[in-house]
Parts: sequence; C-alpha cells; structure tokens
Amino acid sequence: MSKGDPIITVDKVVKRWGSFTALNEVSVSFKEGEVVCIIGPSGSGKSTLLRTINRLEEHDGGRIVVDGIELDNDTRNIDAVRAEVGMVFQSFNLFTHMTVLDNITLAPQRVRKWKRDQAEAVARQLLERVGLLAHAHKYPSQLSGGQQQRVAIARALAMQPKVMLFDEPTSALDPEMVNEVLLVMRDLAKSGMTMLVVTHEMGFAREVADRVIFFDGGRIVEEGDPEPFFARPNHPRAQAFLSQIK
Ligand code: ADP
Ligand code: MG
Repeated sequence: MSKGDPIITVDKVVKRWGSFTALNEVSVSFKEGEVVCIIGPSGSGKSTLLRTINRLEEHDGGRIVVDGIELDNDTRNIDAVRAEVGMVFQSFNLFTHMTVLDNITLAPQRVRKWKRDQAEAVARQLLERVGLLAHAHKYPSQLSGGQQQRVAIARALAMQPKVMLFDEPTSALDPEMVNEVLLVMRDLAKSGMTMLVVTHEMGFAREVADRVIFFDGGRIVEEGDPEPFFARPNHPRAQAFLSQIK
C-alpha cells in the first residue's frame, strides 16, 4: 500500500504538567492515508499526544504542523486545525440534550456554515454508513454504548476532517459492542482516512495498522510494522507490556 506525504509532523514536542513531563521531546510524523495505532501503558502520554495534535492541550516545546498549519499561538491556526482533525473519545462525549441528528449537524452548521438541509443530508449519509439511520431522532440515552460511539464517529466525520484521532474508542464499551465500533473503524481505514488510534485492541492494531507506535514514559520507545512488532518487540518495556496484555 502506498501512502502519501506527511500530513502531521510532530517535532521534539514537550508537554509538562508542573514538574512532570508528559511528552518528552516526541518526534514523529504521520503520512496521508496512514493508519497508526498507538499503544503503551497507562500514563505514558498517548492521550496527551492526541490532545496536543488537535490543540485540546498546548505544548510547551517543539513544533506541531498539521497539513501545513503550524500549531502556534495564532488562534486562527487553532480553529483551522480543529476543522481538519476529528477526535473520538473513550466516553463518546455526545450532547445528551440533543437528538442524534442534531449532534451531527451542529458543528457543520456553526463552523462550516452549512444550511440545515445540507448538514442533514450529510448526517443521514453518515448515519447510514454507521448503521444508525433508523435512530436519527433518538437521544443518546436511548442508545447502547456501541451505538453512541458510532454516532460520535459520524459526528466527527460530518466536519469532513482530513485526519481522525481515536482515543481508546472501545475501552468504555461492553465486550459485545466492541466489534461494531471496530467494524466502522475498519471501514474508515479502508476508505483511505488518515487515522491515529490509541487502543488496547491488539487484534485491530495487527490487522488494520500500517504502523504501530509504542509509548512509555512520555517517549516513543519503539515503532514499526505491526507484524514484526507483535511477533518480536525489541524494547524490553514493549516486551513486558505485550506479555502482560496477551
Ligand atoms: P495515557 O493516555 O498514555 O494513559 P496521558 O497522556 O493521559 O496518558 O497522561 C500522561 C501523564 O500526564 C499521566 O501521568 C497523567 O497523570 C498526566 N496528566 C494528563 N493530563 C493531566 C492534567 N490535565 N493535569 C496533570 N497531569 C496530567
Ligand atoms: Mg489515555
């Protein structure tokens, strides 16, 4: 599979919480169309990396460039990046007082300035794609966790992002609902979407990822093709991590 030019460049990025360093000079780039799974122990900085890439957190050092947009203090740049980068969280984060359809059409109308009709047409296509068209007028509380997460994915896609970030999208789900969400993500990966996925689903990572990145202590300690990585990781921390979760 041939993947394109770098769409995200992270160069010596540092993120601190007080005296604690959550990202310690992390350098990595992601190519257009690439699916990268990010794994590693709890507290190793995986979420922080995703959150700095779409500027939910401000980094303290280094550079982040997304599709040619430098993430600096220029708020116009931050808005531009947010419009290009969709994010899906462990906890769905749907607006509970809004219907499924309204959850999906809100941002395109506000940010993209689409008319209601246009936003709804796109939302219906996306709901069909995630298998939830029949639930368009329900509220999130009337849906299962797996269904809510599929709505969250549709909501992020409605902004027509160039990149999708997933932060443990199946970790809050009952086991029987994990697959329905992974199926949607597989379909998205096949469609050529650039995806950064923090996950503990090693089967998914093995099958779908073009590259696996292993985080530990705020650093990338190993990265490479899934097959050799899962068969025989080089770094002792990666070996320990994989033997623990297998
Ligand atoms: P991971 O996603 O790999 O589990 P995180 O990126 O969430 O790890 O967190 C990395 C480290 O940064 C953890 O030690 C965490 O406690 C710390 N951290 C994350 N967010 C904050 C915050 N808002 N304030 C203080 N410390 C934080
Ligand atoms: Mg996390």
